[in-house]
Amino acid sequence: MTRPVIAIHGGCGVMAKLDLTEADWADARRDLAEALRAGWRVLTAGGSAVDAVEAAIVVMEDSPQFNAGHGAALNAAGIHELDASIMRGADLGAGAVALVRRIRNPIRAARALLEQGGPVMLGATEADNFAARSGLDMVEQSYFTTERRVKSLASLKAKALEGTLKAASEAEKHGTVGAVALDSAGHLAAGTSTGGYNNKPEGRIGDTPIIGAGTYARNGVCAVSGTGAGEFFIRHAVGHEIASRIAYLGESLATAADQVIKSDLASYGIGAGIVSIDAYGNIAAPFNTDGMFRGWIDADGNLSVGTHAEVTTVSL
Ligand code: ASP
Repeated sequence: MTRPVIAIHGGCGVMAKLDLTEADWADARRDLAEALRAGWRVLTAGGSAVDAVEAAIVVMEDSPQFNAGHGAALNAAGIHELDASIMRGADLGAGAVALVRRIRNPIRAARALLEQGGPVMLGATEADNFAARSGLDMVEQSYFTTERRVKSLASLKAKALEGTLKAASEAEKHGTVGAVALDSAGHLAAGTSTGGYNNKPEGRIGDTPIIGAGTYARNGVCAVSGTGAGEFFIRHAVGHEIASRIAYLGESLATAADQVIKSDLASYGIGAGIVSIDAYGNIAAPFNTDGMFRGWIDADGNLSVGTHAEVTTVSL
């Protein structure tokens, strides 16, 4: 029997420490720990890695701290268009939704597609309709909106007018949540959910719902969930690239993940990070920004969470 492991992220490009109060940081760490515990309960009860990934992501979608579900980014038209995907490493089963506007938990719609075993990806209105037909919770757009995202959109629009967009903080631009897990049967899974980035063009789809880019899981190799400038994750097929380096070059997870995030993607000067687990339960969570909301429960059952460089262990 394999000892289970789970790792999550709540987006890279977190704010400078001084931009939020200590209470805000504590809230974010609390919600990360809650998401990890939700996944861990599934794993320790003998549940599947896919169930654990979904459970952890639902907690982060429901939290206003992260750019997914409640608290998601707004596009240039002031609308939430959400993307999500999930992948099962055992048989490469996958499901993804893009540009959805009414599904409370897009990761659940991705999961429903995975289980159906037909189309891997549905987009826009028909993805919303599929979720409604599947009996998932549907909400109004206002459910997703938080004051923080409204302010970010206004600030990014002002910077775009001034021509100072490049100076926008990574935190204003980014976010996303994701999870990877290894279950007691030795199966891997990965999932990711996002509002994309603030002020993105209407209809823009990022890496999050693209299997092989923002999400990838393959038994015996690794599971990967990404956050950062999605266009580059798509162009580098990041999830699949990391798995390929391990499978074909024989690299360790840490080496493969560092190469792609800290070298290949960093060379564009864009923010990027991932969480990943290999078939042995090793965890790698590199990022090239000031911080990344992240956490994991390792094979010994130690729960750790972090926002910037340091990681703290908290009780399970
Ligand atoms: N990867 C997401 C996207 O491009 C955004 C992010 O993680 O910051 O949609």
